[in-house]
Amino acid sequence: MRKPTRPSKVPPALPPLRILIASSEVHPYSKTGGLADMVAALGKSMARRGHRVGVVTPLYKGLREKFPGITHMDYFMRLPLGSDWVEADVHTLEVQPNLTIYFIHQPGYFDRRGIYSENNIDYPDNAQRFFLLSKAAVHLARYLLWQPQVVHIHDWQTGLIPAFMNHQARHEGWMRPPASLLTIHNLAYQGLFAADAFKLTNLPLQDFSPDGVEFNGLLGCLKSAILSSDAITTVSPRYAREITTPEFGCGLDPLLRHRSKVLRGILNGVDYEEWQTEKNPFIPEPYAVSDLEGKAVCKAELQARMGLPVDPSIPLFGSVTRLADQKGMDILLGALEEMLPSKMQFVLLGSGSPELERHYLSLSQRWPGKVSAQIGYDHGLSHQIEAGADFFLMPSRFEPCGLNQMYSLRYGTIPIVRVTGGLDDSVVDLSEDRQAADGIKFQELSPHVLARAIRKALALFASPDLLNLYRIRAMKADFSWDRTSQEYESVYRQLIEARGL
Ligand code: ADP
Repeated sequence: MRKPTRPSKVPPALPPLRILIASSEVHPYSKTGGLADMVAALGKSMARRGHRVGVVTPLYKGLREKFPGITHMDYFMRLPLGSDWVEADVHTLEVQPNLTIYFIHQPGYFDRRGIYSENNIDYPDNAQRFFLLSKAAVHLARYLLWQPQVVHIHDWQTGLIPAFMNHQARHEGWMRPPASLLTIHNLAYQGLFAADAFKLTNLPLQDFSPDGVEFNGLLGCLKSAILSSDAITTVSPRYAREITTPEFGCGLDPLLRHRSKVLRGILNGVDYEEWQTEKNPFIPEPYAVSDLEGKAVCKAELQARMGLPVDPSIPLFGSVTRLADQKGMDILLGALEEMLPSKMQFVLLGSGSPELERHYLSLSQRWPGKVSAQIGYDHGLSHQIEAGADFFLMPSRFEPCGLNQMYSLRYGTIPIVRVTGGLDDSVVDLSEDRQAADGIKFQELSPHVLARAIRKALALFASPDLLNLYRIRAMKADFSWDRTSQEYESVYRQLIEARGL
């Protein structure tokens, strides 16, 4: 006899969400760092989970030529910017089902060679440019037919959005504005402008106060976002704790402590469709955990491309980075001075501080067979260094998340990282867990201590079996977006529920 069927215990499916993401960088349309990668992957993974996702970002120079799928949308804006009215229209790209990029077309502001700067000098009208982006995003949040329930903003460039939305809700008849979520990718960049820029916000004068957008007499975009977003995330759990302390708080720690109930860290994921070794157009030979032979080919090609002796027996260290104070590359210079007499090679791809650029170029001239530095930005080469190096160096002073160490793990390139922020959350050192170690960590920010970590790497390289074990563990570590997007989804749902949207 057949048993009676039990009533199903499957919970009812949760309704899909409507999310508008606003960011000044989105890979592959624009990128200066990890922000672009994170926003792109967040959008893709949310759309894949069935949610309706829009991403608002500027239409930078050359994008329409490079991405012919970008089309003009019948949407026109005339936005107040101080006493001026600025016109902008919108272009869209349907990237995949449920995911639309909304490019803000304002050629006067965005059709330029750089994103924030040229020749390392910030554009003098960055306040106008990114306030306009923020106002355009608010316009879309209010008038798009699919009515976003959450606006997810990223860093200072879109930091005024919650203040603008709150203002429109209080004074301009916006009945059901979306909830707002701020993700802090880097607290050190705060979008501080002279008080004079306040008029460009068109907010009432009383908002230029410590309870509004004012921060130590300046206009603070990130400060405003921290104060007025419904919730705040940052890109790793450890960094979420760190930024509430004076050491890492960049002056905003009292405010972050005040908002600690709505602050949490969600470790970024990796877009493994892009950052992988099996089907990657940028690397010369594919490889996988089951067959690492291709990695040796990648190493040889990298040595050749960078003008170094092609020799598998020389341990090869690599770095791909912005040359900014944050990244600790000054400390690395000292450590390399100490270590370069050993049998090793080092390749650098980076740009930023002219002083550091000079130092690395001069190091490569003094150690021609051992050091090769390429100053500039090169997406393909960044993949080749990840694939071809044996070890990847990240001696950061602070690191909100850091993606390169996670890319390195997937490429079987052992990361050497300082114990800070997301570096600590994503790499396992021998001293923490012998069975799971996949990287080398060091604590004290000094050339000598970093040199000691490099020495450990040389010892590891001298034990091929152990190195292989590290590589396999590294390549198996999983930082896929499934976990990350689940966590963001639960934050979105809490916000939507709290607002009754
Ligand atoms: P951050 O966002 O602080 O710069 P992350 O490690 O989170 O640091 O992300 C850096 C991203 O930018 C990585 O994808 C890295 O490969 C890329 N990147 C940094 N500098 C360069 C460069 N000079 N050329 C190519 N890619 C770079």
